[in-house]
Amino acid sequence: MGRRVSKVDSEVSNGVGQLYVVATPIGNRDDITLRALETLRRADRVVAEDMRHSRRLLAHHAIDRPLLSLHEHNERGAVGRVIAHLQAGECLALISDAGTPLISDPGYPLIRACHEHGLTVIAIPGPSALIAALSICGLPTDRFCFDGFLPRRHSARVTRLKELLDETATLVFYESAHRIVDSLRDMCAVFGADRQAAIARELTKLHETVKRAPLVDLLGWVEQDDNQQRGEFVVLLAGTVRNASLIDHELDHMLRILLDQLPLRQAAGIAATISGQNKNQVYQRALALHGR
Ligand code: SAM
Repeated sequence: MGRRVSKVDSEVSNGVGQLYVVATPIGNRDDITLRALETLRRADRVVAEDMRHSRRLLAHHAIDRPLLSLHEHNERGAVGRVIAHLQAGECLALISDAGTPLISDPGYPLIRACHEHGLTVIAIPGPSALIAALSICGLPTDRFCFDGFLPRRHSARVTRLKELLDETATLVFYESAHRIVDSLRDMCAVFGADRQAAIARELTKLHETVKRAPLVDLLGWVEQDDNQQRGEFVVLLAGTVRNASLIDHELDHMLRILLDQLPLRQAAGIAATISGQNKNQVYQRALALHGR
């Protein structure tokens, strides 16, 4: 890379190679940032998952750079080769077939190795299907738990879903056309028919579809329409709503134990700290229990 992409980038380079982790489109080829294009144009090499796919993307933007292959089947050997190029002072750009590298995509061993070798890694952020889906799905976005792809086998998938039953954050999964119906069925069985959910299909593409509904309705809708079983999917589930009466019940239980041993004010203070609930409210509750 003759000239660095920005002042900040050149300040940190010190003439040593740098790895740029570059997000590319998840469908619409124009969803690529100016900085991503500039970085790809100036990279000594582009480290790509599928060479043919990446050549097409680069050609679409009139970019012609040498490619290095890194995919899940050659990752071990490829990491050593990429590190050698970086140590020789080259600037490389890592891309995957779609979206942000490392998000359900190869690259983690490479980034870890860069950190272990003291090599600079720079993010060139852009599209990712999970963020695009969250932003339009109509479920809470303040907290979310991304769980990537569920296991392919039914029993392993159900086991994983059961492990997520108590999660209060919005759950986000990637899913393929082959398994969308089976996964929705398993979700219905584990989380219940009424759990609010959403499907974001073919984002940024011609047949982009987003639907938010209770799980059982989503399942019925996808089962009845073959078109809704085609393409790429993000599936989102609303998190569990913790039962307020259960929380009250737990607080009462804790207060009773503490009130047996401690003065009221101290018992209430400890219970408020442990439960994270409002001190005054816990004190009022302790008062009520104390009198019984
Ligand atoms: N690195 C990518 C990212 O940042 O989103 C994800 C790569 S992962 C191998 C591919 C999966 O992402 C697909 O099976 C699908 O679940 C999801 N995905 C990718 N593009 C999508 C799109 N345009 N619409 C919906 N889901 C998409």
